Amino acid sequence: MNDDIYRAEPCAIDRGLLEPYGGSLVQGYSAGAAGHQLLHRLANLPRLDISEREFFDLELLASGAYSPLDGFMDRETYTSVRDHARLPSGMPWGWPVTLAITEEQAGRLSGVGELALYYLDLPVALLEVSDSFHWDALQESISVFGNENTAAPAIAERVRDGKTQLLGGRVNLIVEAAESSWSEDHLWPNVTRSFCEQQNWQRVSAVFGMQPWHRGHEYILRNILDTSDALLLQPLTSETALACGLPEAAGSEAQQALIRNFFPRTRVMNNRLSHHIDCERSRAILQQAIVSQNYGCDRIYFVRSTPTSTRPSQEQTVRALLGTAAEHGLAIAPEFLEQPYFCQACDSVVTRRSCPHEASHHVSLDEVDLVGMVHRGEALPPQAVRPEIARAVSRNVSHHADPARLMRGPHLFPHAPEISRSTRELVAGHPSAVLWMTGLSGSGKSTIAQRLERELLMSGHRAFVLDGDTLRTGLCADLGFSREARQENLRRAGEVAKVMREAGLIVIASFISPFRSERETLVEIVGDGFFEVFVDASLETCESRDPKGLYKRARAGVIPEFTGVSSPYEPPENPAIHLRTDDTSVEECVRTLVKSMGDIGLLRSAGDNQSRSTPLPFHINRNQRLQ
Ligand code: ADP
Repeated sequence: MNDDIYRAEPCAIDRGLLEPYGGSLVQGYSAGAAGHQLLHRLANLPRLDISEREFFDLELLASGAYSPLDGFMDRETYTSVRDHARLPSGMPWGWPVTLAITEEQAGRLSGVGELALYYLDLPVALLEVSDSFHWDALQESISVFGNENTAAPAIAERVRDGKTQLLGGRVNLIVEAAESSWSEDHLWPNVTRSFCEQQNWQRVSAVFGMQPWHRGHEYILRNILDTSDALLLQPLTSETALACGLPEAAGSEAQQALIRNFFPRTRVMNNRLSHHIDCERSRAILQQAIVSQNYGCDRIYFVRSTPTSTRPSQEQTVRALLGTAAEHGLAIAPEFLEQPYFCQACDSVVTRRSCPHEASHHVSLDEVDLVGMVHRGEALPPQAVRPEIARAVSRNVSHHADPARLMRGPHLFPHAPEISRSTRELVAGHPSAVLWMTGLSGSGKSTIAQRLERELLMSGHRAFVLDGDTLRTGLCADLGFSREARQENLRRAGEVAKVMREAGLIVIASFISPFRSERETLVEIVGDGFFEVFVDASLETCESRDPKGLYKRARAGVIPEFTGVSSPYEPPENPAIHLRTDDTSVEECVRTLVKSMGDIGLLRSAGDNQSRSTPLPFHINRNQRLQ
């Protein structure tokens, strides 16, 4: 292996800033011509698709944020980190950085020296495989997450996908330019360091466990800025805490808004390093301290928690933890700040060290209290959250909160429509409905849906095709093709179909929707008026049609988990309408469909020529609340 091509030069260490952990920024990427050369090589190597989480770790490895690691951990490193929170060299390290595969993949890749890593169907990196070993999910869960079950999302996701092995080895990521980043808004340590060097900054601070959006966090940030050259924000978010906390999207939008509007732009580096981490707190602290030092920070700030008599103070624990690591080159210094609150008597944000007033004057700026208010639909007090930031928070919380919880909340008053669905149906002259076309790709869903829509419109019906691909370019553009993403895609499609049905339309939805359980969820969302249409064609037929060339790509392994090829299709057991397109023409299928719709009572009655401009046969009472 020619190292010149595949390893980036060690990054020059800037005078003034702290050295990275281990002494140098260990990067592994290829840019420009070397990147192109590597891309060509990847085309001839065995392929391994990696998860979003693994891609994220890959970028941290390649960019040097995880220095001194140069790749996914081998057995020795992994075991040492899992069991002792140390690298084999003795250097403290917080969490495992691993790449997981299934038994089947392990068999297929056994003995392979180099692998092409793919993310979202694109070749992204080279892995020089140095180790392949068994993964004990439970042991990791206990040691790293402090859990006797494997429920932590990072573990559960791998267990669900049947991952049982880990692959270790150096990585080399392909990037466009030496300073470019794959993820939007994600700075690399070398970029941050050179920027600080240009500005002649030496005191760069990091914060732990903060997503600044309320005035308490704002106060803390201002205090830090007063004594620092710059502040690097890169919050770690917890997935399991989301239920009682602020959804990541809400926190991050509010943080952006606060920083953009109320802080000096150049002195706050807002690095969206969204790493969901639910590991044991001391491991998370250690890891964030390491990553922050690699970014050039010399101090990391913590907010003091309320002390209890039974536990050693958080301050002592953190000092001990980072003190041990300091012997191994972790020179970043921990700093502690008081928990702020708003005092009505002082009329400002203060801490117990600066305010003489009784608790009765205090307005809590505790995040859990504030988030609770948002969930209950209460307005956030302006002393606690700036109104423009409060709007950003509420908007996102209502989008992300558990709908069942919201329905139970006292603040939701679903608008009772003045014009009900049945009124709309009366005007349209036909019932509204959702015809859910399910079937393999290429079975004919879209073709039949389009023809039916035309047929219905021409005969005076209000119809509309809701197409999966179209939805994916807009409303669902943020979703990928993992099992969860597909479920969410279908849930949103179901909700859209429901709204359109409320508007009095015959919705013709065309989605592969391969799983029975998901189609059952759709019935729950849409309610009565939901009709399952099975567009049935054999896999052979669909594959021979292959109108979008997808089967060819799936067979070539380019599309993972493709329905019918590498992912199952569960045919409906009792569809309302069953079309067999193997040996029936499109016209014939549409005729059958229209006939079945007539039989079910979904069409205008024959001879009903009522024009849509005919005056309403009834009076709508504007004050009447229709159900
Ligand atoms: P899907 O939406 O299920 O992915 P498409 O409708 O895009 O499938 O493609 C189906 C292909 O099969 C089209 O090229 C269509 O012309 C052809 N075809 C042949 N016979 C039929 C039929 N009876 N019904 C629907 N499509 C058919």
